[in-house]
Amino acid sequence: MDIKCFTSAPDKVIRLKDFDPSFTDGFRNKEEAKEKLENDIQEMSRLQDILYASSKYGLLLVFQAMDAAGKDGTIKHVMSGINPQGCEVYSFKSPSNEELDHDYLWRCMKRVPEKGRIGIFNRSYYEEVLVVRVHPELLSYQNLPNPKYNDDFWNNRFEDINNYEKYLVRNGIIVLKFFLNVSKDEQKKRFLERINNEDKNWKFSSADAKERKYWDDYQLAYEIMFNKTNTKYAPWHIIPADKKWFTRAAVSEIIVKTLKELSLEYPKVSKEHKEELQTIKKMLEEE
Ligand code: ATP
Ligand code: MG
Repeated sequence: MDIKCFTSAPDKVIRLKDFDPSFTDGFRNKEEAKEKLENDIQEMSRLQDILYASSKYGLLLVFQAMDAAGKDGTIKHVMSGINPQGCEVYSFKSPSNEELDHDYLWRCMKRVPEKGRIGIFNRSYYEEVLVVRVHPELLSYQNLPNPKYNDDFWNNRFEDINNYEKYLVRNGIIVLKFFLNVSKDEQKKRFLERINNEDKNWKFSSADAKERKYWDDYQLAYEIMFNKTNTKYAPWHIIPADKKWFTRAAVSEIIVKTLKELSLEYPKVSKEHKEELQTIKKMLEEE
């Protein structure tokens, strides 16, 4: 089954209300989606091996979402077949003092995957135009010159981010951006589950409940951000996230599709190297 890619053309206006968080694109049940995910995981594993061997491209997967949308679970399931040697996950939290002493892209730049590898950003520099926009008082910690936090300021950040992503793409780092689009009702259900189930208590903090109060502000910040940073070279994928099984199937499909489009090949071995291998083979067989 081909899943819709949930990308908008860069020149089209994105309105979050046009994206249904509970959409499941024709899957009749969880089992069907799971089967597809299993197939995609196998395919991803095959493609990752060639990505690693050819070492020409890196793949950066950026995950953004409201709390409890399923970032962690999606990363865990989708990447379950991936060779850990060629993959790194990094979760970006509130910046440390050392990080605040640098420009805001610094901490992310250090984590961009090498060529041949897959890098996953669990949250990212996009927090700088999301949580920071919803709570502009956070900017005071950044000690920026000429503080005037108007539209120009945010537009400059969008410009920085677009330029940075263009730079990455030009240098062989493919940038795929996912927004896991959970509904406010489903978030409430998942929060209650985290409170009611003791084994899940650790996943819930009072900060999550506090941020929920800013739901509409976040939705607006996200919407503006999509419209400013949904570029041809680094598009956003707005993934329905009320059904976890669907989220995982959709994300894996997009990753596989992207890797396939790179037409990856194992490095060609030179005539000399082939001859050398034959000599060694003979030597080993005669041991
Ligand atoms: P979980 O789903 O397990 O809650 P999480 O990604 O929400 O995972 P937390 O440790 O709960 O992880 O939260 C990280 C927090 O750090 C988020 O509230 C996020 O908004 C905040 N954060 C990340 N980057 C920045 C930033 N650049 N400036 C300010 N806050 C940030
Ligand atoms: Mg959290």
